[in-house]
Amino acid sequence: MTITNPIILIDNYINMIPRYTLGNYPTPLIPAHELHCKIGGPEIWIKRDDLISFGLGGNKIRGLEVMLSDALAKGADTLVTGAGTQSNHVRATAAAAAHAGLQCVAVYWGEPPNTVDGNYRVTKMLGAECRFTHDNDRASVDNFILDTANELNDQGRNPYPIPRGGACPMGALGHVLAVIELHEQCKQLNYEPDAIAFAVGSGGTYAGWLLGTRLLELPWKLECYSVSREPEEISQQVANLATESAHLLGLDWTFNSEDAPVHGEFIGDGYGIPSNEGKQAIELVAASEGILFDPTYTGKAMAGYLDSVNNGAFNHYNNVVFLHTGGEPAFFAGNGSWLVE
Ligand SMILES: *Cc1c(COP(=O)(O)O)cnc(C)c1O
Repeated sequence: MTITNPIILIDNYINMIPRYTLGNYPTPLIPAHELHCKIGGPEIWIKRDDLISFGLGGNKIRGLEVMLSDALAKGADTLVTGAGTQSNHVRATAAAAAHAGLQCVAVYWGEPPNTVDGNYRVTKMLGAECRFTHDNDRASVDNFILDTANELNDQGRNPYPIPRGGACPMGALGHVLAVIELHEQCKQLNYEPDAIAFAVGSGGTYAGWLLGTRLLELPWKLECYSVSREPEEISQQVANLATESAHLLGLDWTFNSEDAPVHGEFIGDGYGIPSNEGKQAIELVAASEGILFDPTYTGKAMAGYLDSVNNGAFNHYNNVVFLHTGGEPAFFAGNGSWLVE
């Protein structure tokens, strides 16, 4: 194969990724001077994907832009997805469906909660039909999504099922576009990051960043902090997703779990349960920058980042971009007792 101009090559990949754009891009990339003064370590800039200007923002919008385009091309009339009632992903899916004139069915594990607040409130406001698995196992959502899609099919509708968290090869391609976007931004600002730090939940975001940085041959290290699954499990899931996403771009690449290392010490008592370190990290960033990180994802990832800085693990980095993936609606759920000392 002949070597093509790399810029043309990247344009080719951008053209291969279908996108129904919902937000305004690029999202802001801002230096966090005050935070850096307080904590030391590498210079830190924050990429504000929490400010994606659609559906209350967050990283999930990026994956959904690709899936929505795919869904519309397939003539879908309903997006079906699921998770817990405070899911950012389900809220973002409900907004995407509403915008494109599609129906949305939200599948939640467990029983209907007593209080309609946070993301659950927003999802209902956006018109999603909410169904419950009546099973407290989070994984019960996975089969329920498929059963719901089959049921809708039988009724003559055309559902587009989206896995829990939006973690699928199509969705990961939305994050490949985020890598290309940040790369452009950094070139313009003359900022050369050594590493990108962010939270890992279901792994679609990480998969896209892994593939994207490989595509662009970027020297960026990915410093990823799991907020739910144990490292071995999520690393394998990220590698599988990145491999399948590469195939969608016609690339016969294989990623292994060693390609997707994850820090696993900041999950705390479990997914969605605020940790004390996370709370302290949230308070530190809020007091330094006036920026809110959320207790489920970004707060725990920032707790991990602070620990990495403190123990000298990042001494070899000069510049880091911390990806703020959103999640602020969590502040408007529950009674906030976790914030009280
Ligand atoms: C879902 C989510 C993440 C993690 O993204 P995954 O693709 O599930 O790994 C991080 N931050 C926020 C706010 C999220 O909603």
